Amino acid sequence: MLDAILADASGADIGALTIPESYRAVHVLKAEQEMWAGVASNDKDPRQSLHIGDVPTPQLAPDEVYVAVMASSINFNTVWSSIFEPISTFGPMARLARESEWAKRHDQPYQVVGSDAAGVVLQVGTAVRNWKPGDRVTVHCNHVDDQDQSAHDDSMMAANQRIWGYETNFGGLADLSIVKANQLMPKPAHLTWEEAAVSALCNSTSYRMLVGRNGAQMKQGDVVLIWGATGGIGAYAAQYVLNGGGIPVCVVSSPDKADILRRMGVEAIIDRAAAGYQFWKDDHTHDESEWRRLGKDIRGLVGEDPDIVFEHPGRSTFGASTYVAKRGGTIVTCAATSGFMMEFDNRHFWMRLKRLIGSHFANYKEAWEANRMISKGMIHPVLSRVFPLDQTGEAAYQVHHNMHEGKIGVLALAPEEGLGVTDHELRDKVGDKLHLFRR
Ligand code: NAP
Repeated sequence: MLDAILADASGADIGALTIPESYRAVHVLKAEQEMWAGVASNDKDPRQSLHIGDVPTPQLAPDEVYVAVMASSINFNTVWSSIFEPISTFGPMARLARESEWAKRHDQPYQVVGSDAAGVVLQVGTAVRNWKPGDRVTVHCNHVDDQDQSAHDDSMMAANQRIWGYETNFGGLADLSIVKANQLMPKPAHLTWEEAAVSALCNSTSYRMLVGRNGAQMKQGDVVLIWGATGGIGAYAAQYVLNGGGIPVCVVSSPDKADILRRMGVEAIIDRAAAGYQFWKDDHTHDESEWRRLGKDIRGLVGEDPDIVFEHPGRSTFGASTYVAKRGGTIVTCAATSGFMMEFDNRHFWMRLKRLIGSHFANYKEAWEANRMISKGMIHPVLSRVFPLDQTGEAAYQVHHNMHEGKIGVLALAPEEGLGVTDHELRDKVGDKLHLFRR
C-alpha cells in the first residue's frame, strides 16, 4: 500500500491492491473500561490504556471507503476515551450496533480511537459516487445516518449523530480506517500529510462556533474572548477572528504561548498564569471580584467588553465567561475540560440579555467550508509536534496534561515527515505561517 502511494500510483493500481486482513491500530479495550475506578482524572495515564496492535479489518459497507491513513492527530476526545471519562465509549458503540446489520461491526471488545486522518482512498463501497481509489483526502468526524429524517436540516441535529473514532469504532489513529463517504474532503494540496491531518476536528468546530450560521456568527469589529487560544480549537478560533475583522482577546498560560499569538498578529493577550485569577474561592464558592478583575483586564486591553466568549474550559471559567460578556453578548461553548457541572450568576445573564449557544463539532457543509479555508491558504494548521503511531500514548499524555501547543500530529503509514505536498507554489506563498506552532 505504502509503496504504491509513495510512487504516486494510478487510482486503478491503488484500487487493485489487496486490503489486508488486519491492520495496526491504537485501541482501548472493553475489558479495561473499569481500570481507573477510584483514580483521580489527572492520574489516569493514557500510556497505559492506549494499546497499539493489530485488529481485524472489517468488511466495507456500501456507503463506506477504506482509507490508507498517512497521518492522524491527537484530539482531546482520545484523552477522554483513554481515561474512560466522562463515560466509557463502549456504551455508545453498543447502542450504535443495535441500529443496523452493518452497525453491528462497531460493537467489539476493542475500539480503534482517533477522529482525524489524512490519507488515500483505497477502495470504495458500491454506493459511493464522488470518491475513487487514489483520491487524497482528509476525514471529518461527523458520523451521520443519512436515512434519518432528523439529519437533513443540520446533520449535527440528527438523533443518532456520532463522532467517528470516539462514539464509533475504526477511528483514525491507525494505518487503515473505515469511514463513510460523506466524511471525506479533499486534502489541502500545499500541506504535508501530518499538517493536513491535524485540522478537521478542531478547525471545523471553531468554524461552526464563530463563523457558521449555527454559532455566534461573529461580525467585523466584534471583540471575541478566546480561552486556551493556542490550544487545539482556540488556535483556529484566533485565526477566524483575525480573518473576519474581529478583535481577539486571547487567554493563554505562558509567555511562550503569548509569543506564538503575537507572531500570528494578535495584540490583546492575557497570561492567565501571570494574572493568577482565582474564580473559585473553594469548590463551592465563586469569587465575583475575580470576574470583575478579568473584565477590567479585557477593557484595559481593548476598551470594551466581549461581544462573544469562546468558552470550553467549563467549570473553572464559565462563571467568569458569562459575567464578562457584553450586554446582549453571546457565550458559545463546546466543552467543559475542567468540569461539566458549571455555575453562573443568572442575574448578570438575564438582566444584560446575554445568549448562550451550545455547539458541537460541525455538519458536513461547515466542515467542508473550514477545510476550504485551509486549502486556500487562509487558515493554517497549528501543528506543533509529531509522534510516530507507536508513541500515541505519550502524545495523548501530553495533551491530557496541557504540555502542548496547537495540535500534535501522529504519523501512521507516512514513513517520515514532510511528504505529501503537491502544490508547492501555494506552500511558498503561505510560508512561515505553517510553522508558527512548530517546536
Ligand atoms: P487543548 O489543545 O488541550 O487546548 C485547551 C486549552 O484550554 C489549553 O491549551 C489551555 O490553555 C486551556 N485550558 C485548559 N484548562 C483550562 C482552565 N481550567 N482554565 C482556563 N483555560 C484552560 O484542547 P482542545 O483541542 O482545544 O479542546 C478543548 C476542549 O474542547 C476539550 O475538552 C475538547 O474535548 C473539547 N472539544 C469539543 C469539541 C466538540 O465538538 N464539542 C471539539 C473539539 C474539542 P492555556 O493553559 O494556555 O490557558
